[in-house]
Amino acid sequence: MQTYDLIIVGGGIGGSALALVMAEAGHSVLLLEQTDVYEDKVRGEWIAPWGVAETHRLGVYDRLVAAGGHHITRHVTYDESLDPAAAEAAALPLNFFKEGVPGPLCLRHPLHCQTLFDAAKAAGAVALRGVQVTSLAAGERPHVAYEHGGQPHEASARLLVGADGRTSQVRETIGVPLHQDRPHHWFGGLLVRNVVDWDPLLQAIGTEGDFGFLAFPQGGGTVRVYGGYALDQTHRFKGADGPRRFLDAFDMGCSPATASLARGEPAGPLFSYFNADSWTDEPFRKGAVLIGDAAGWNDPILGLGLSITYRDVRIVSELLKSTPDWERLDFEPYAVERAERMRRLRFAAKLQSTLDMEFGDVARERRRRHFERAAGDPSLRAHGFAVMAGPEAAPAEIFTDAHRARVLEA
Ligand SMILES: Cc1cc2nc3c(=O)[nH]c(=O)nc-3n(C[C@H](O)[C@H](O)[C@H](O)COP(=O)(O)OP(=O)(O)OC[C@H]3O[C@@H](n4cnc5c(N)ncnc54)[C@H](O)[C@@H]3O)c2cc1C
Repeated sequence: MQTYDLIIVGGGIGGSALALVMAEAGHSVLLLEQTDVYEDKVRGEWIAPWGVAETHRLGVYDRLVAAGGHHITRHVTYDESLDPAAAEAAALPLNFFKEGVPGPLCLRHPLHCQTLFDAAKAAGAVALRGVQVTSLAAGERPHVAYEHGGQPHEASARLLVGADGRTSQVRETIGVPLHQDRPHHWFGGLLVRNVVDWDPLLQAIGTEGDFGFLAFPQGGGTVRVYGGYALDQTHRFKGADGPRRFLDAFDMGCSPATASLARGEPAGPLFSYFNADSWTDEPFRKGAVLIGDAAGWNDPILGLGLSITYRDVRIVSELLKSTPDWERLDFEPYAVERAERMRRLRFAAKLQSTLDMEFGDVARERRRRHFERAAGDPSLRAHGFAVMAGPEAAPAEIFTDAHRARVLEA
């Protein structure tokens, strides 16, 4: 039985980042990752400015840039109710949301995970791939049994961390309930390559007909694209030619730029998910704490899972470094901050989903009115400021039913 300060289950973004930070602080860390290779599962590749600020505070930013991370500096919102030239003329600079952050940072998810995993290992963590966790327990003496290299192993620790994503085995085993919203739309994602004529510094979103899109350049002629469509269109992009038909949906009259995406080639799997939010009230138990998606996730329409995860890592690591007495360490401040953070982001995501991912005449007219009214009253876009600058950056009254009614005129 090996003994560590921390056992972290899940070597994705959250688990590897926490392993790195805690190993650098001189703690013994066992990091257990089930996969042998990080594959494209259609996960986050865009970090919001407030998430970039978190990577600075954690000291991982330079590593992400060295691995190929690049900043996006402009945003365009297209819509069937807007003139494309006017939409492009109103492009938003992205460098003013966080001091010292030139804009969102993009990095391929598999490469992002590998970079952090390698860094954790280099910092002294015992970082293992191809691991199957067979049992685990929290409480007075947290421990894990796992198979690795065809052999059974056991390890104990002062603290067990669940960083094992949406279907967290740790969350399930330690009995933390997960709340889930009702799905609002399907949200599919695909990496596209050989995209010519897409400005690598430009991100764009837009809605036309029965499809809403988001596009984030990843460098080297690749662009990560997402598309939202109605829940009753489950089979719309199924089948061998589903990725092709998905890309065809980007050939839109309202956004001439996305025609170049439609002419690109699928460079990975097309996966579609329900957009729904999930959250936990108390992401900890005695001897165990959850971070990242394991603790609940935000609707991916806002693209904030990485930022949320980096903030989790920062808060949990600061708490752990604040005292040698982990026996009595209270994770309540983390739970309280996270609950309010996720409530605000859930609110912002619902508003954005209603505006961008509802289709038909009523929704089109609502968007047209929204663009028109927001041009004269920027407070109607304040939830978008929270997406970029952080949920705490917008005033509390933005996250109320009264504000939602004002934005949607409902
Ligand atoms: C369609 C879609 C688009 C998204 N787009 C964005 C975006 O643009 N920007 C953004 O910020 N976020 C985005 N996200 C969210 C973001 O990808 C996640 O929030 C983020 O990856 C969470 O990191 P994590 O480390 O908690 O989990 P994960 O990245 O899921 O990593 C979990 C790791 O744990 C491992 N694991 C799981 N179970 C076990 C086990 N039992 N034992 C050992 N290892 C295990 C997995 O193999 C994996 O490596 C998106 C999500 C979706 C679904």
